[in-house]
Amino acid sequence: MPTRQEMWDRLGSDVDVLIIGGGINGAGIARDAAKRGLRTALVEMGDLASGTSSRSSKLVHGGLRYLEQFEFSLVFEAVSERRILMDIAPHLVNPLGFLFPVYKGDRRLLSTISAGMVVYEGLSLFRSPKRYRRLKPKHVAEEEPALTREGLKGAPLYYDCSTDDARLTLETALSATEVGAVIAPWVKAIRLRHDEHGTLVGATVEDVLTGATKDIAASVIINATGPWTDSTVAMASVPPADGEEAKTSAPVLRPTKGVHIVVPKDVLPVNHAVVCFHPDDGRVLFALPWSDATYVGTTDTDFDGDPSEVRADRADVEYLQAAMAKYFPEHPVTDDDIICTWAGLRPLVSPPSKDGEEMDESSVSREHRIIVSKSGLITIAGGKLTTYRLMSKEVVDTASKMLRLRGQLRRRLNPARTEEDPLPGAVSWPEDDDHEVVARQIKDIGGDQVSLATARLLADTYGMKGADVARRVRQDKRLADPLVPGRPEILAQVDHAVQDELASTVTDVLKNRTALFYRDPHQGLAAAPAVADRMADLLRWDEATRIRMEQDYRAEVDLSRRWRLDPPTGVADDAAGEEIGSDGGEDPEGA
Ligand code: FAD
Repeated sequence: MPTRQEMWDRLGSDVDVLIIGGGINGAGIARDAAKRGLRTALVEMGDLASGTSSRSSKLVHGGLRYLEQFEFSLVFEAVSERRILMDIAPHLVNPLGFLFPVYKGDRRLLSTISAGMVVYEGLSLFRSPKRYRRLKPKHVAEEEPALTREGLKGAPLYYDCSTDDARLTLETALSATEVGAVIAPWVKAIRLRHDEHGTLVGATVEDVLTGATKDIAASVIINATGPWTDSTVAMASVPPADGEEAKTSAPVLRPTKGVHIVVPKDVLPVNHAVVCFHPDDGRVLFALPWSDATYVGTTDTDFDGDPSEVRADRADVEYLQAAMAKYFPEHPVTDDDIICTWAGLRPLVSPPSKDGEEMDESSVSREHRIIVSKSGLITIAGGKLTTYRLMSKEVVDTASKMLRLRGQLRRRLNPARTEEDPLPGAVSWPEDDDHEVVARQIKDIGGDQVSLATARLLADTYGMKGADVARRVRQDKRLADPLVPGRPEILAQVDHAVQDELASTVTDVLKNRTALFYRDPHQGLAAAPAVADRMADLLRWDEATRIRMEQDYRAEVDLSRRWRLDPPTGVADDAAGEEIGSDGGEDPEGA
């Protein structure tokens, strides 16, 4: 596997397709395009998945709420994609039970929800991860002892899937490299170049870590920049001629912010994803189990700032605390309990522009839009993690059509087969999806140095590629050292991240490769020096770089904690005393 530096060195040759943005959509498009045989490059200005694609609710799900609007085709599409992702990434997409408690006075009746569940299962052609059940209050109490029982009438228990959004993105991108795509993290598109007719012909990109720049010639440029979509669209517009006024087009997106908080499992013990309705506004949110932690989300508020600076604020945290106080009154979530927060921006599509001047839609759906600008920029906007594969296919269809129409593509393309070919960690994964069998194989490879807890973590995180991490320990026993005393993450993961997974900063390793940022009660701060030392050896950093990388990580942790400095808003107090059951709000995550 080439390192990030080698990827940078490879950038510069002419490509058929240049993708800007390394979230799930950019990665999915790169995989699809490269598999078809298109010469493909992707640039991402941060780490892969550093935008929205590591900040979601981490669910691969059908979008139950569309049933209320009779949008059966959308649900069918999403549940079909859920099945495909379970097949191509079984180590990362795992069944998760959703408990939907219904209380006296709720707007939705137990019988109506149960009927909806039957339709939901029908639309998945009865291939849901597990069959739906309707639980009586007594059984709800057994399944979720922490949940309040006052006024409880029962609860449907249905199944969708949880995932690791960042690793799903990473593995999708790594899979693209296996078929020749150049994937370059920490490379920013800073300018788009046009020919004399105003058609896009390439981009100038900057290595964010070194400041070096270079030009890439590209037949087609794809904008997969999520919340940054409108900045990229603006970059693509043809500069006005002398004396002419610059044209502005209506924004493509209307982003909203969604915040999650993470607490230790013993503070908020849940065994299933618990579907809750907020006592203030009736919005749906979830309390979700996450091995030794629980995360709660999400909020939904308008956001018009710089997407790079999005963070949780105190009002977001108090909103989530208020909902948990209603459903889990015996398990209060205090500020001190909160390990970390994350905030993401939903790249929601604005209603289409009516003047039709700049944009010409080639595909429209309620969930996503593919837009082709006059200069030839293809923009993918909106959508969900769950349906990224399908959206990516549509985008590459659009790009291929454009290349053929312009006479830039005469050869036959291969079928991409993205729905069949496993992601890298899923190759040889057991048919029966038994994670424990893989963990034991990894343990055998690692020998005495690798504990069963570490082997399990490696199996769940890397799938069959966990064996590669264990082999590193076999070769060098020092790599079995834990990154944080008492936790299963080990030093070998740093080597693997740098040499096999394009990691190039301490933040890359501690955030999206090992997830210590989210899971360790001290957010991996104690591990930062050892990780920086190891990376300095592997990447030949000088002392100044090593120190800067460590500081950058501390700044990232600080940003996730900054809400603590905000003055209290009193939202949590105001909400106290309201009744459960005032549901009826919108649910952007599609429960
Ligand atoms: P992003 O992941 O944001 O990727 C865009 C990338 O472009 C960024 O990494 C950015 O750094 C890069 N970029 C920007 N400008 C440049 C440039 N000039 N040069 C180079 N790179 C650039 N969906 C689900 O299916 N299930 C869920 O549970 C779910 N929960 C959600 C919860 C929340 C709170 C939010 C916000 C969204 C949720 N979604 C969910 C939706 C899903 O997360 C998003 O639709 C998806 O991640 C968007 O991916 P993307 O690739 O379009 O954008």
